[in-house]
Amino acid sequence: MAFEPSYLKSSRSGRLDEKCREAEELLSSCRLCPRQCGADRARNQKGFCRSGRLPIVSSYNAHMGEEPPISGSQGSGTIFFANCNMACVYCQNWPISQLGQGQEVSFDRLAGMMLELQERGCHNINFVTPSHMTAQILLALPIAIEQGFNLPLVYNSSGYDSLNSLKLMDGVVDIYLPDIRYCDPEESKKYSQAPDYPEVCRAALKEMWRQTGELQTDQNGIAQRGMIVRHLVLPNRLSQTREALTFLSNEISPALHLSLMAQYFPAHQTKSIPELDRRLNKEEYRQALDWLEEMGLENGWHQELDDSGGGPAGRIVREL
Ligand code: SF4
Repeated sequence: MAFEPSYLKSSRSGRLDEKCREAEELLSSCRLCPRQCGADRARNQKGFCRSGRLPIVSSYNAHMGEEPPISGSQGSGTIFFANCNMACVYCQNWPISQLGQGQEVSFDRLAGMMLELQERGCHNINFVTPSHMTAQILLALPIAIEQGFNLPLVYNSSGYDSLNSLKLMDGVVDIYLPDIRYCDPEESKKYSQAPDYPEVCRAALKEMWRQTGELQTDQNGIAQRGMIVRHLVLPNRLSQTREALTFLSNEISPALHLSLMAQYFPAHQTKSIPELDRRLNKEEYRQALDWLEEMGLENGWHQELDDSGGGPAGRIVREL
């Protein structure tokens, strides 16, 4: 089955230009993400995410460690944005997400990175931490299309996404790859400074599913459209795994592809947070796998814990 990235149709119909105009408006009193700071990012005023008008990129590369239909044999063309609209105490990339390590680039340069990764044979462009950069993605996209860009777009987020931004992404993003981190506002407040995360994430996941639905792959098993949800199991049940899986099965679909992750390791501020200052143990992950079975979620991947507790970071090792 031949797939055409959805943004090409939007580009031909003129819808992409409209979206770019809406994105500029949202940026000038920033409501791109659920924090709704109102910062005039068009004039480089900064809100919670400490980002102005231009994209800030920490790195871009062909990445082999994503789920098999995303990385395939040639790699996923990841573009990591610096800064973040979350502030997780256990962030494994905190110099990038919290200290903003990266380089401010023009829209032309961002389009150039997308084209370079396409040239290198990557299967898709995978925007990592895009929730505060949705306008920037839209503004770079027509420049890339003009020069022959035609890979599927992957939106790889924490799940803390506003419906404003997701509506802009409708007809632009082909594959959603969000997390579901917490179901309890107390935990999301304490560990990520986002007390509304559970409610926001549920609404976001429903909207992503409405837009793209079940995962579709080409004849080589490479993702072309659809949604994969990631859930990182935290120690001491802090990620409310049972509730998350119940929501996904009952309110999204048992056909959903899920990546159940065991790779948590203490980082950033966890030295002073005893309940987060260890890896997951085998019993905790076994329990999560049992819940998965109980909820009838049969599509996706899980990881294996090694004897030190914790799977190999970033590697998805087994199909469910
Ligand atoms: S994207 Fe940044 S500035 Fe805009 S609302 Fe979110 S945190 Fe605030």
